Amino acid sequence: MLKAENITKRYGFQTAVDDISITISDDSVTVIVGESGSGKSTLARMLSYIERPDTGRILLDGTSIGRRTAKATRRNVQLVMQDAASSLDPHQTAEQVLDEPLKLLLKMGRPQRRERISELTDMVHFPRDRLKNKVSELSGGQQKRLCIARALAAEPQHIIFDESFSGLDVTLRKQILSMLKELRKKLHISFLIITHDLDTAMYMADRIYVMRFGKVIETLERPTSFLDLKEDYSKELVKAAEYKRQALYI
Ligand code: ADP
Ligand code: MG
Repeated sequence: MLKAENITKRYGFQTAVDDISITISDDSVTVIVGESGSGKSTLARMLSYIERPDTGRILLDGTSIGRRTAKATRRNVQLVMQDAASSLDPHQTAEQVLDEPLKLLLKMGRPQRRERISELTDMVHFPRDRLKNKVSELSGGQQKRLCIARALAAEPQHIIFDESFSGLDVTLRKQILSMLKELRKKLHISFLIITHDLDTAMYMADRIYVMRFGKVIETLERPTSFLDLKEDYSKELVKAAEYKRQALYI
């Protein structure tokens, strides 16, 4: 279980995350929604221990994360960012991208790594015949799948997707989300999905947190409908999404 307890993060006079407490249960999908600037990415960076909170603590399975446990935490909590291209080295081949964590983090031998790379590419439906291609020669969707496979390679307990599916067209996004649903059933892993797409939230979530101005303003357990949202701001988000959806058909 991954927990944030009363964490706050300030940049100068700006409070990006303001006294937030959230729980990411094992084996579940948690979704955070909220408009741009509400502190979602800052929270994601703290949960994956890329940044430290000013106050409050992050706990992994009940243990507060500190300098001593940082390395294990980074392996156990993987972050997949929005822009796949910029989080990959364009000169590496797809195979090298996947080989690295297996070698460095899991200390696997070569034959074992080979086998694992095949498994990983199958899991995320990355075409095996593209493994020798450089990252820069892959399509956006393939790069995205590669980022997900690299996160899975570390055998983490938690994967955080920070707007990872935003740039994708609708069909590809659907494919990737349903692939993730399949994976969730197979692997004992939890996902934290950060999105401003409410359809993604409803499709995936066991629990939804709504963020605004650095705070969690509403929590929805086992959501079945947006009508369950109580706060005015959450309802505004739903209305805005509905408006956008209609506008697309005009
Ligand atoms: P979101 O991901 O919800 O769009 P962010 O966490 O990126 O929100 O940002 C929350 C607020 O914190 C914004 O006002 C942003 O400008 C500010 N912020 C985020 N990261 C930094 C940073 N590294 N330096 C200064 N301000 C930052
Ligand atoms: Mg963000």
